[in-house]
Amino acid sequence: MEENVVVRFLKYVSYNTQSDGDSISSPSSEGQLKFAKMLAEELVRIGLSEVEVDWNGYVMATLPANINHDTPVVGFIAHMDTSPDCPGKNVHPQIIAEYTGGDLVLNKEQNIILSPKRFPEILKYQGERLIVTDGTTLLGADDKAGVAEIVTSMEYLLAHPEIRHGRIRIGFTPDEEIGKGADHFYVPKFGADFAYTLDGGELGELQYENFNAASAHIVFHGISVHPGSAKDKMRNSMLVANRFLTDLPGREIPEHTENYEGFYHLTKFEGRVEKTDIEFIIRDFDRQNFEKRKSTLVRMVDLLNVEYGESVAEITLRDQYFNMKEKIDPQFFMVELAKEAMLSCNIQPKIVPVRGGTDGSRLSYMGLPCPNIFAGGHNFHGPYEFIPTRSMESACRVIIAIASKVAEKSPT
Ligand SMILES: [Zn+2]
Repeated sequence: MEENVVVRFLKYVSYNTQSDGDSISSPSSEGQLKFAKMLAEELVRIGLSEVEVDWNGYVMATLPANINHDTPVVGFIAHMDTSPDCPGKNVHPQIIAEYTGGDLVLNKEQNIILSPKRFPEILKYQGERLIVTDGTTLLGADDKAGVAEIVTSMEYLLAHPEIRHGRIRIGFTPDEEIGKGADHFYVPKFGADFAYTLDGGELGELQYENFNAASAHIVFHGISVHPGSAKDKMRNSMLVANRFLTDLPGREIPEHTENYEGFYHLTKFEGRVEKTDIEFIIRDFDRQNFEKRKSTLVRMVDLLNVEYGESVAEITLRDQYFNMKEKIDPQFFMVELAKEAMLSCNIQPKIVPVRGGTDGSRLSYMGLPCPNIFAGGHNFHGPYEFIPTRSMESACRVIIAIASKVAEKSPT
């Protein structure tokens, strides 16, 4: 199985599927549709049923049950696109047959080195086979490793009918990296009772909590007057905005927070005397704290307006996504099932909160509860991305174990 998943992965990364945040089409890039069509052909070839690619590039397929009793339908989902943050075209993966520790020269000419000094976690994989980049592009393990693992495990289940399983649905989505992966995911058509995204990092990762997320846009209005005659007349909107910022809790920012701590993150400050725009993203795991953060900003804007006696600032808040934990908790067996599956494959589950969002968090709110499990890669979205091939095989085994456990646990 390890060879199959590796060969498949190497083929997939040769496709350029970078998504494009500036595009208004869906999928956002041609390359994703081309990849989706190739993938669908492959799914038909390996023997899956109900294989479909829709206009937006979503690929869905079914592995029918090989047992007679009813089981819940479980889904496995991965995203096909790669991040627009780093070149993703002409990916030339290199295989390190056995990593012996120390520096890996990715690109001699450009002196690009994957070093354990900066990325100490690589030392965990001494003695293992790694796939790395040539230093000029990302690798695309995020999330083509997930795609390759799902397809390979379905192929394995088809070849091993002695492993009993219920109906399984698989889905591959475009445009996850630009936050649109769930936009056109038609949950009723997918028809699974619950699903897992294979979009996590290192071996054993299991995630069912993510941030609640909102954005805030605040406009400050100034009054521009010739500076020579500005006394008691001018209002410099940049200075008003600056005051606003200094009133915020100074340590609740990304660079001072970790684990379950939330933050306000200033993402834009664009000002002239007359008008200043600032933008934040607001993140918190706890729903109440999240709401409190939003109302803090609103209150601060109100106070400014009271102080100036007129409207000097306006705020627009927009919710982006919510913590999937709310939707997972009532069906916590999904997490237990993934844990048991990992333990049965001798993998220690590493439960970590996602300090971000996943497609699974949006899908969970769309009616498809969807924790996230590891796909095996490290250092996503950059040239230092790498993946140990044994982790890819392990992800396949976990998918197979989940499929078989769903059948075991259902009443016969
Ligand atoms: Zn991803």
